[in-house]
Amino acid sequence: ATPTSIMVGTGRAAQLGVLFRKGEALQLLEKTSVLAVDKTGTLTKGRPELTDLLPASGFDRQRVLARVAAVEAKSEHPIARAIVAAARAEGIAVPEARDFAAAAGMGAGAQVDGERVDVGADRYMAQLGLDVSVFAEAARGLGEQGRTPLYAAIGGRLAAMLAVADPLRDTTAQAIRTLHGLGLKIAMVTGDNRRTAQVIASQLGIDEVVAEVLPAGKVDAVLRLKAGHGALAYVGDGINDAPALAAADVGLAVGGGTDIAIEAADVVLMSGDLDGVAAAIALSRATMRNIR
Ligand code: ADP
Ligand code: MG
Repeated sequence: ATPTSIMVGTGRAAQLGVLFRKGEALQLLEKTSVLAVDKTGTLTKGRPELTDLLPASGFDRQRVLARVAAVEAKSEHPIARAIVAAARAEGIAVPEARDFAAAAGMGAGAQVDGERVDVGADRYMAQLGLDVSVFAEAARGLGEQGRTPLYAAIGGRLAAMLAVADPLRDTTAQAIRTLHGLGLKIAMVTGDNRRTAQVIASQLGIDEVVAEVLPAGKVDAVLRLKAGHGALAYVGDGINDAPALAAADVGLAVGGGTDIAIEAADVVLMSGDLDGVAAAIALSRATMRNIR
């Protein structure tokens, strides 16, 4: 490819709100046949809301919410923000947590008023040695509604099941159809609960789902999905996506996502929406066709 045509191509892309940080990405994008996408914050708005809180027997809803919100006030995870917002909306006083520690892709914990409080996915509770099976049926029902089940532990005991729901971005469904129209295979790669991920993927007609993965698992998924294909592009917004963005042939970061994701990416989607990916791929094909 000539440098001039690449410049023209990347210039056009910029007008469409797609910023190429590396010119080679335009050429690799043309060869892309598999698109791997993060779910939370990429397919969805990344602004989840707390929809459910079921206290375990012996636990009081408000007390649980206050303690969980105290932990989450120290976290930057979108789920954390949803929980803190819910506590505020209910006028609950949120105590100050100490010794906060996040378990990436799983949950978080801290000391609140002299008690250990943890919140996160079922695998986080498993790591703490807690059995969540009393909530199995409720969790299944919530997952089938596309909600993400979470659990809270207080003082080493299972205290509640919670759920959050994160609506799809308005442009996601159409963008997936356009990308399929361009002949791409689309895979969702997410740290979220498997059932929740599958429900959302089937609503969108996504071809494959890799769920409940940690950041390193996202890299494994990228390497596996790209084997035997032209090139693989990965779209994501979070810190947990940075290794996968770097491992992909083309990494596309959602504008408004974390700085770490943007730094790891070759391309930035300014609007934050997935239709920028379709525009960029169409443009890469047009540019390369002109050159040949
Ligand atoms: P995604 O790949 O969907 O962006 P993450 O890797 O950030 O998700 O998180 C995966 C899962 O870990 C979440 O769905 C949630 O169950 C749990 N999790 C991570 N951090 C937190 C937190 N601060 N509070 C509650 N749950 C969390
Ligand atoms: Mg995300």
